[in-house]
Formats: sequence, structure tokens, C-alpha cells
Amino acid sequence: MILDAADLNAGAVVEADLCIVGAGAAGITMARTLRGSGLQVLLLEAGGLEPSSASQALYAGEMVRRYGEDSAYLQTSRLRYFGGTTGHWRGWCRPLDAVDLEARDWMPNSGWPISRAKLTPLYRQACEVVHIPPFDGGGAGSTSHGRPILEVPGGEVETRIFHFSKPVRFGKVYRADIVDAPDVRLLAAAVTHLHTTEARGAVTEADAVTPEGKCLRVRARGFVLAAGGIENPRLLLSSDGLGNDRDQVGRYFMDHPHAGRYGQVQFVDRASAKKFAALYFDRKEDPAVGVRTNGVFVLSDRVKAEQRLQGWSVGLRRQKASKELDELGVAVGQLAGAVDTLGQDVDADPRIQLARMSIRAEQRPNPDSRVTLGDEVDALGLRTVRLDWRFTDEDAASMRRSAERFVTAVSAASLGRARLLIGPDQPWDDVKGGDHHIGTTRMASDPSTGVVDGHGRVHGVANLWVAGSSVFPTCGVSNPTLTIVALALRLAAHLRAELSR
Ligand SMILES: Cc1cc2nc3c(=O)[nH]c(=O)nc-3n(C[C@H](O)[C@H](O)[C@H](O)COP(=O)(O)OP(=O)(O)OC[C@H]3O[C@@H](n4cnc5c(N)ncnc54)[C@H](O)[C@@H]3O)c2cc1C
Repeated sequence: MILDAADLNAGAVVEADLCIVGAGAAGITMARTLRGSGLQVLLLEAGGLEPSSASQALYAGEMVRRYGEDSAYLQTSRLRYFGGTTGHWRGWCRPLDAVDLEARDWMPNSGWPISRAKLTPLYRQACEVVHIPPFDGGGAGSTSHGRPILEVPGGEVETRIFHFSKPVRFGKVYRADIVDAPDVRLLAAAVTHLHTTEARGAVTEADAVTPEGKCLRVRARGFVLAAGGIENPRLLLSSDGLGNDRDQVGRYFMDHPHAGRYGQVQFVDRASAKKFAALYFDRKEDPAVGVRTNGVFVLSDRVKAEQRLQGWSVGLRRQKASKELDELGVAVGQLAGAVDTLGQDVDADPRIQLARMSIRAEQRPNPDSRVTLGDEVDALGLRTVRLDWRFTDEDAASMRRSAERFVTAVSAASLGRARLLIGPDQPWDDVKGGDHHIGTTRMASDPSTGVVDGHGRVHGVANLWVAGSSVFPTCGVSNPTLTIVALALRLAAHLRAELSR
């Protein structure tokens, strides 16, 4: 049900068993799951039911380093109203692979405190939440449902398949579930501060402000921060550094670096390329699955381990070339059979299908890549955020070497000619993020290396949990929301048991 702030006096205390801060993918999933649990849930949403520029302006902040983004990233990469950033997500979904959760000796600070196997049944439920069919066997793969898969001989390059949510806009699709639930109260109010017991071992109450400026207090037995990967650390830092005794809050910020024009693949003949178009180029609805699907290429776990590479994937986008091929870029691999097409107008040549390589990569968890508080204060009295997103030479080198490996494999396999368009010394000014905010309250069993434990509870604070991609210790290359939903389902089940005792 909706709790109307007009019915509350300024300074009123609102009580609940569980207070969830933020109604995006994570918060709405948790609140829906806890319906009928016997717990009284209060869902606080800073922005209210509809988007507004006044609310969105409260996401403004400072971006220290730029790459292909600037400070606008802090406002364009997230939405501040009921439904959160799912108000404009694009619906790319795929689970993380097992290796993404493992400790990799070549990647410092990698390794999750939970195994991929634990997530498998949760991914199945998460697929239902975002209205996509499950991934086969609940695992990271999916069959192509009859669409031909491009097998790259040599075993170094493999296909992974995304399922596209329509996309489910949580604020629309699940509004009635929340509004009609007698045991979930939705209140339009932003949390600005968490108060604790003197020893800071538990949260006692939260300050909240309605969009009209009315100040309220919230008391609950448990609190969950589900305000997104930038606001979660901001709220902890703004609450006198709650959970930050070991200086971990806000660190390890990651996004997925994207480079949309990294290289080209020139398929030897258009007819053979056409065979694979349905899976790799087109992203049309697959009648066998009932949603759109898309194949991308990744490097095998074996190659990544041998070469000490981070996660990496490449999608192919159909390209019409207006230039002659030999004017473009740095040829890394080349195939004798295709060389005779060089120098021709490829648009005019019916034999050739050209594809642009669109790359997305995994970053290393880096403690210096971080969210801190800025010097400005916003209209609610909260210090603004300062985001120092780092894209390191190691990230760039891993991305580059992975692309070279792919290009060499495709060329060696006589599938066509592939080449990189970006030189090894190219500055990384054009790298964009994927609007994924990961790692800033990372999970770790050891409080000295993370902010929350394996269930998402803030180390040292008995009744405070965090939901969302800020808890991911590493980011893999899959988009985060399916995993956010899977972990929110897990946390809801955990709190149902924990708070019912
Ligand atoms: C353009 C775009 C495309 C994307 N496409 C994809 C995609 O294809 N696949 C994918 O997996 N992901 C995608 N994403 C990312 C995806 O939207 C996020 O991963 C997801 O929405 C995060 O869920 P969340 O619940 O953690 O945070 P959010 O959805 O951002 O929700 C956080 C909520 O908390 C509220 N809030 C914030 N501060 C407070 C406060 N102090 N008090 C109370 N409430 C507060 C906000 O108003 C918001 O409603 C995309 C993002 C963008 C911007």
C-alpha cells in the first residue's frame, strides 16, 4: 500500500520490521518476495512514483577522470524514481560464469565468498522476474535453439548467448504487486542518514526526507540499502562512515568498459555469414525461446588462465563499409583466401560481409577506483559524490591481448579476415562505461577486504544489509541486473528467516 506523507506530521516516526531503502531492481524484488512473510516491510523510494528533473538533479556529482564519459554519467547512468534505473535499462541478461566468481591468481582481489553453484537456482527464479526463459541447465550457457553457432576451431573462442528482457520496467510491471500488498508500505522519501547504537553495532533509525521536504524518522529491526552502486556507499559514508572502519566503503568501483569500433571481421563469403546472422547480428525475437537472443564471443577459460586475461567479449554488428578495406586500421590476422578482396569496394562485392567488433571487458577490482564524498552539499543536505573511475593500463592491455587472440583465431580458422582498428598505443579517451556500478560495498568473508559478508550484511553492523551490484567483488562481462535480482531473491529469503526468529 502507499503510505502518503501528507498523513504524517513532520518528525513522525514510521516503524516496520524491515526498511528497504530504494525501489529499483533490487528493492522491488525484495519487497515483492517478502509479501506474505509475516514481516511488515517499508519500502522507501527517494524519487516517488514518477520521474522528475528535481529528483534526477540530486544524482549530480563530480567525475574525476573522464575517458569517454564526463560528470553527466552520474545522472545519465541511473534513474531516481520508483523502478530505479530499470526505467531505461535495455534488458541484456546473462548469468555470470563460474570462473567470474572464482579467485584467479592473476587478478588481485578476485574471488566471491559464495560459489556459482549457489546462484544456479536463484538465476532460474531471476529469469522469471525479468520475463526471460531460463538459461539451459541454469548455467552460464544457453543453446542457440536451432540458430547456427559459429564454431571457431582451436577451442580458444566460444559463443555465449544473451536473452533480452522486453525489458521489464520494474516500476510499471510490479507497481500493483507493491501497492496492493497489505504488508508492504511504499513511502516516497529519501534516506539521508543512518543512526546507530553508541558502539555502532546496529542501526537504530534512519532520517528520511519526502520530496516536499518533510523530515521523518524510520525505525526498523532491519535495514537494507538498495539504492544503487553509487548511492549505497554514499549513504554509508554520509552516515559517519558506517561500515567503513577498514576504509573499504566506496572502493573497487567497476563498470564494463565498452569500445564499439574496436575492429572488423570480414567474412570470406556473405552466404556463410548470413547463416550466422540470426544469432550474432540480428537480435530479433527467437520463436523457439520467445524473446530476443544474441550471441557474443568470449575466450575460453583455459586461454584466460594461461594468458592471465580478464573477462572479455565481442559482439558483431553488421557493417556497411564505404572505405576500401586496406585503408583501415592495423591488420593483425590475415587469411590468404580473403587477401584478394583487399583494395576493392566491399559494399559492391557481393561475396563480402563486414562486421564491426563491439567489445566489452571486465575490469580488475582496483581499490583506487572509488566513490568518495565531494565538497558540495545537495538540496537534502547530503554531500555529493565524487567518482574516480579508473581504467588502468592492465585493463587496457588485457582488452587488447584478448582482441588479438580473437582476431588470430578467426583468421587462422579460415572464417575470414579480422583486424583491429585501434593501435596498441591508442589513448583510451573513447572508452565508455556500460552504466553498471559495481564493487563499492564488496562482499568478502574477511572484513579487512570487503564491506559486506556473503549474505550482504555490513561487517560489524548486526541489522544492516546491502543489495545490488555494489556487493559484487568482481564484475565478469555479463550485464549485472540478472545477478542483482538473483542476489536480492537470496537476501529476501535470508531475511525472512533471520527476522522471523
Ligand atoms: C541506459 C542504461 C541501460 C542499461 N541496460 C542494462 C542491460 O541491458 N542489462 C543490465 O543488466 N543492466 C542494464 N543497466 C543497468 C541496470 O539498470 C542496473 O543494473 C539496475 O537498475 C540496478 O538496480 P538497483 O536496484 O541496484 O539500482 P536502481 O535500479 O538504480 O535503483 C535504486 C533506487 O534507489 C532509489 N534511491 C536512491 N537513493 C535513495 C535514498 N537515499 N533513499 C531512498 N531511495 C533511494 C532510486 O531512486 C532508485 O529507485 C542499464 C542502465 C542504463 C542507465
